[in-house]
Amino acid sequence: MILLLVGPPGAGKGTQAKLLCERYGIPQISTGDMLRAAKRAGTLEKRYLDIMDSGGLLPDEAVIGLIARRTVEPDCGRGFLLDGFPRTVPQAEALDQLLASQGGRRIDAVIQLDVPRSLLEERLIHRRTDKGSGQIYHLVYNPPPPGAELEHRADDRPEAVGMRLDAYEAMTAALLPFYEEKKLLHRVDGVGKPEEVTQRVLSVLGRPSSGGE
Ligand code: ADP
Ligand code: ADP
Repeated sequence: MILLLVGPPGAGKGTQAKLLCERYGIPQISTGDMLRAAKRAGTLEKRYLDIMDSGGLLPDEAVIGLIARRTVEPDCGRGFLLDGFPRTVPQAEALDQLLASQGGRRIDAVIQLDVPRSLLEERLIHRRTDKGSGQIYHLVYNPPPPGAELEHRADDRPEAVGMRLDAYEAMTAALLPFYEEKKLLHRVDGVGKPEEVTQRVLSVLGRPSSGGE
């Protein structure tokens, strides 16, 4: 099972990825999480760090290499879920080439989470994540427990949020038709409780009878 989650920042990709990966028993691969881990470890180049914090997209070559290395690890043998990659057509083309070189693997489905912009801004500005577990919270809809050690992403501050949403709109203009033409794209309404959104995704995918494939 190779799944892609696409959608603007704040659409709920990370939240849905965790629920879907548990269900299908496949790992979640998030370029955003990998880049933030590199930032914490001090291994992310300064020019990339500045782009990330201001809400811009990194150059394609900076993320394609991450995905090439990660998808050949043993836990990806049964498939994986990509969250936040690809974001541009050159990244999507690189992914096709990469999968072809891995013995002719193919994408099963691309899920696009649709959420109106005003709600996205509200979700991003109130997002907090647990530093240790990576659990995603929302200060109003899903408040963190007292005493949790929280991270407030630099790019979730109001100054960066608008730029990120604009960057997404500019990029999807081309990415969504790319998958639409391949008949892989499924649009899912991302408004509602997280569990309701998961049910919509599962009904698009065809539910597995158990936790596995
Ligand atoms: P993305 O990975 O697409 O940027 P996240 O999964 O991190 O999105 O969610 C962004 C914010 O919105 C988080 O604060 C999360 O708790 C909240 N959120 C996610 N899904 C929902 C939902 N269905 N309803 C309300 N809030 C949500
Ligand atoms: P969100 O969950 O809000 O959609 P991510 O966590 O996926 O955001 O990504 C955070 C930041 O990391 C992006 O704003 C961008 O700077 C960088 N990034 C992540 N994935 C990619 C990608 N596929 N291409 C370019 N930049 C990326």
